[in-house]
Amino acid sequence: MKVLVINCGSSSLKYQLIDMQNEELLAIGLAERIGIDDSFLTHETIGKEKVVIREDLKDHKITLGIVMNALTNPEYGVIKSMDEISATGHRVVHGGEEFTSSVLITDKVISEVERCANLAPLHNPPNLMGIYAAKELLPDVPMVAVFDTAFHQTMPPEAYIYALPYEWYEKHGVRRYGFHGTSHMYVAYRAAEILEKPIEDLKIITCHIGNGVSITAVDGGKSVDTSMGLTPLEGLVMGTRCGDIDPAIVPFVGQREDLSHQELDNFMNKKSGLLGVSGISNDLRDIMEAAEGNNYRAKLALDIYSRRIKRYIAVYAAMMGGLDVIVFTAGVGENAIDVRKDSCSGLEFLGIKIDDEKNNTRGKETIISSDDSKVTVMVVPTNEELAIARDTKNIVEK
Ligand code: ADP
Repeated sequence: MKVLVINCGSSSLKYQLIDMQNEELLAIGLAERIGIDDSFLTHETIGKEKVVIREDLKDHKITLGIVMNALTNPEYGVIKSMDEISATGHRVVHGGEEFTSSVLITDKVISEVERCANLAPLHNPPNLMGIYAAKELLPDVPMVAVFDTAFHQTMPPEAYIYALPYEWYEKHGVRRYGFHGTSHMYVAYRAAEILEKPIEDLKIITCHIGNGVSITAVDGGKSVDTSMGLTPLEGLVMGTRCGDIDPAIVPFVGQREDLSHQELDNFMNKKSGLLGVSGISNDLRDIMEAAEGNNYRAKLALDIYSRRIKRYIAVYAAMMGGLDVIVFTAGVGENAIDVRKDSCSGLEFLGIKIDDEKNNTRGKETIISSDDSKVTVMVVPTNEELAIARDTKNIVEK
């Protein structure tokens, strides 16, 4: 069975074609600048040369049509016809409280996802574009929606209810939902598999540290707490997002700088985090380089970043009443040796001990804790597309 995984952003469409018989990646691609000038598609069939296709990608439907042409192109494609595709799997950011797991997409599901769009106005509408396009261009191919929020629906109310007027939850759905769920679930289950232990017996902290950053407490295979909240702004320090702050800062600065709600939101989401503190970049590699050159604000940004990771690890270990495994994943988690080391240092009293030699690794499944560390610390590269394809296959086969 071949599954096409589709992940749409407002001006982008990422895809992977995976043969689920052996979970083999067949082709991968990214369309950029959809609806903007100079749009293009980068397509790669594994084992063949990468091609860049310059076309006017007016909207997501036209883009998906061009993706289909690329997949079936006799020269650089990988399949003879789209009939070979048994299902499409769609990443959907927000599933609200409706969706606790992945689902087969029906008209009813589409209208529920449309309803959840008010909770994720920047994400759900483009995700829906991919669904509408696939529905029109591949009407006979079943579609599955996989939600970033679904894995966290097992959190208990004391983890997801804010200490705010309860009516805000009832009226507006103001609660913690959490994100990156597909990634947290994938790496937690993969870690248990690598360690050959039943996940039901493990207390795991998964650290997804990319441009967006979130940490999840996974107890017995279930998410029991996670750092992102109503939106992906809460929690850790990110590339451009502030994470946890005193909420009173918002009206305080808003008044003094005469900023609208929209402008304040923009500052918290796009001009804070590593970029805000360093004034240099949102990319960790740039910050590390500047810090090596003794730039004070770059060093400060790094220290705040790792300290916040450490705080969440300690809090979640306490919350679960123990800890067996820490998993680092995503761009920073898989590659930034110093960030892993700094965020675990000082946590030896919890039984967390990093082995510097083993930690000297990037992008590979590795155990990085010392042999006498009570807690196993690991790097597990995430693979959200494969997780989406697996759910898609399982649901379609049912
Ligand atoms: P996204 O959240 O956009 O999917 P990624 O998971 O790709 O992001 O992570 C992007 C981050 O990973 C960037 O901040 C980048 O600097 C960081 N990163 C990638 N490679 C390295 C590396 N070798 N060393 C340190 N940081 C890295």
